[in-house]
This record gives sequence, structure tokens and C-alpha cells, in this order.
Amino acid sequence: MDCIFDKIVAREIPADIVYQDEKITAFRDINPQAPVHIVVIPNEHIPATLDLKPENDALIGELVRAAAVLAEREGLAERGFRMVLNSGPDAGQTVHHIHLHLLGGRAMQWPPG
Ligand SMILES: [Zn+2]
Repeated sequence: MDCIFDKIVAREIPADIVYQDEKITAFRDINPQAPVHIVVIPNEHIPATLDLKPENDALIGELVRAAAVLAEREGLAERGFRMVLNSGPDAGQTVHHIHLHLLGGRAMQWPPG
């Protein structure tokens, strides 16, 4: 399997990793869309949200909670931030390994583009 995020988790390719534990890795997006743009991923390869199984429920909870902790650490708690999970081509998912985008540091638009 040739997955760029698996290689980041294994530290086989460089990334600006801001958090890593036995289940989750978080790193700064190489093409940031906001002053703070961190990608939070499960270390386990799960292609997309449609592939989630009940046994992944706790993992996704930890993913969201890790992103919230990072948001606070990045100084976003007061002004707010956005978490995004893109799934499939219309949403612009380009890496087929579930990833949560944490975006903040500027006012966001709604609806998103
Ligand atoms: Zn992967």
C-alpha cells in the first residue's frame, strides 16, 4: 500500500508533526488554508469515513478530542476553529486515509466552498 500518511506516521517522510501517540498523529498541512491548519489522523489506515466500523468509534472520538486539545494549544479556544472531515471526490478528499483538518486563526465562511 502506498499511502503518504502511513509514511508520515512511520516517519519515513518528513512532516511537521505536532503530536503523536500510539493511535493518533497530527502534523501541519503543507498547503495551509488558514493561519493554523493541522491534519489529525489515526495511525491505522482507514481510507474514508464510509469505511468506519463500530470498533472505530472510540478512535474517532480520540481524533476529535486530540484536535480540540491542539486547538487550545494553538490559541484558538477563544475565537473558535473548524474541524473538517472530507469524504470522496466532491468534498475534495485527495489522500485516502481518514484525516481531520483543524483550521483556525481567521474568520471562516459558511457555507464552506
Ligand atoms: Zn494510510
